[in-house]
Amino acid sequence: MRCGYCQEPAGWWRRWCPDCRRLDALVTLHRGADMGTFMDLFIASGVPRDKVEKFLNTDARGHGTIRDQIAADMTNQLLEALGQRSRQTAGDVKRLRERSGWVGLDRRPRE
Ligand SMILES: [Zn+2]
Repeated sequence: MRCGYCQEPAGWWRRWCPDCRRLDALVTLHRGADMGTFMDLFIASGVPRDKVEKFLNTDARGHGTIRDQIAADMTNQLLEALGQRSRQTAGDVKRLRERSGWVGLDRRPRE
């Protein structure tokens, strides 16, 4: 089996490789954290940077990419803080991102 995120061999009956499983667990554990916090957690986990990028940009479960899911959670917290009840999904984020040019906002400057 190949990993659903990075396409590297994942092992028998495994959908994801050990690295991506670790990243996936961090996303579940820290749901609602902002992108900067997640990047710190991902880097601290020891998973190579290019693998982290693949993980973030892959839609392995059909709910949108991890990057868009994190952005949707951040947006929802902001809307809630402003008293808005509407919810953004990862799909909404993707559409917004494609329509307007804010692709750079949730990314750190290149090192
Ligand atoms: Zn993987």
